[in-house]
Order: sequence, then structure tokens, then C-alpha cells
Amino acid sequence: MTERYARLKIFPFADFSKLKEKKVTVVGVGGLGATCAEIMTRCGVGRLTIFDFDKLEEANLNRLIYRTHQVGMFKVDALREYLLAANSDVELLTYPNDVTDGKGYDALLKEARESDLVLGCVDSFHVRIFLNSLCVRLKVPLIDGGASLDGINGSVHSIIPGKTPCYRCNKPALKDDSTTDLKKAGDGACHFTSLPTTMGIIASLQCQEALKYLLGFGNVAPYILYYGLEGKMQRYNWKRDPKCPVCGGVK
Ligand SMILES: [Zn+2]
Repeated sequence: MTERYARLKIFPFADFSKLKEKKVTVVGVGGLGATCAEIMTRCGVGRLTIFDFDKLEEANLNRLIYRTHQVGMFKVDALREYLLAANSDVELLTYPNDVTDGKGYDALLKEARESDLVLGCVDSFHVRIFLNSLCVRLKVPLIDGGASLDGINGSVHSIIPGKTPCYRCNKPALKDDSTTDLKKAGDGACHFTSLPTTMGIIASLQCQEALKYLLGFGNVAPYILYYGLEGKMQRYNWKRDPKCPVCGGVK
């Protein structure tokens, strides 16, 4: 008889039993976030908090995790069923709220402060910029993932406040309150293509970097780009901008 973490216990680079002391918040549980939540749950994270105000639509079903009978449910409620069935050891908190406003914002502020790490899994540019500023201000690491609008490329940005570049360091033209073309086109699942393959790859990369940070093994990559057409992945060791308006003064 083996127990559920037996294969993690023999991983030679880190002590996975320490993960049960860690708290992780996932913002957005679409194609990226649902997969990130599953990975963290199966690895045995202590507490997982998930945020998403969307309800599941039929057009979301080409990606992973969600099931047909769950269409119409809040994604966080649908995911709760799935995650607790996968591993009921995990303390799971769910918020069907918009993190940029009102109750959702207050909840995120509280949960992010208590978290060891935030996984940013949003499909909206302005929320990504918002999370970057919030996590830098709270000094909570943010591992942000995203896929290109054509569905085939993706990126993972690991923002460890005071250590690695934030999202703004390398994109000085951005404004924190900017509404982008993406925003104007409308946020959400149905406006852009989305492949379960790219989403699975990027979510897995986010979790790999998250586990490296949480368990203290390997070397966290500040920025990874995945090029699907070429089957290529590249790490960029960007430097912090000392004059960055978001993280410039953070030590
Ligand atoms: Zn910065």
C-alpha cells in the first residue's frame, strides 16, 4: 500500500512535505488557473485560495478540468468539486468575485497578504498590471502566466519583489491604469482562440517556478517565453529597472 505523496517524497531536489505549510492564491481559474490549481492541489499545498467571477460556458470546455454538466456554475464552485475529489487534504477557499473591485478586492488584499505566493492566471491585461502592482506593494511573489492572442505562444513572468524585475521594469511605456486594446475588445474566454496544449504547458511552467520558489530548489527564471510553432523555450534574465515606478524603491 502506498500513500498519495509517495512519489513526491522521493523527489531528490526538495522536501515536498514542506508544501503543506504553504499558502497559495490563484487569480483567475480559466485555462491556466484551473490547471495551476489542480497541480498545486495534487502536490499537497496547505491552503489554496482561488478567485474568479466568471461562470463556466460551453466554449470553455475545450480546455482542461471542467466538465459538461458544470456549464452555468461559477468556475470556482465547479473547480472546488474537482479539487476536493483530487485531494481533500488541501484547505480550499473560493471567491466568485472580481479582484479589482469591492468585496473581491478586499478579499484579495487579505488573502494575498497571508499567501506565500500568488499565481496570476488572468486573460486581461489591465488585471495583470493591477496584480503586478498589488503583489509588489505587499511583497508577495507573483508568478504570472499568459498565452498569446493567437493561442500558440506563451510566457511566464516570476516577480519576486525586491529581487527580480516586475512586469513594469521591462515595459516602461505601460501605465498601471491603462485600458488596452485587449480590454476594449472585451475580456473573457470567447474573444480569442485558446489551445489546451499551450494552456497546459504555460500553467505547468508557472507551477514549476512556483514550486522552485516555495520549496527552495533550482533557480527561479525571471522570464520564460514559449514559442509553440518552433517548439522552443527561452529564459531571459532581465534586470530590474532601478527607476521602475512600481518596484524601483522596493528592497
Ligand atoms: Zn519594476
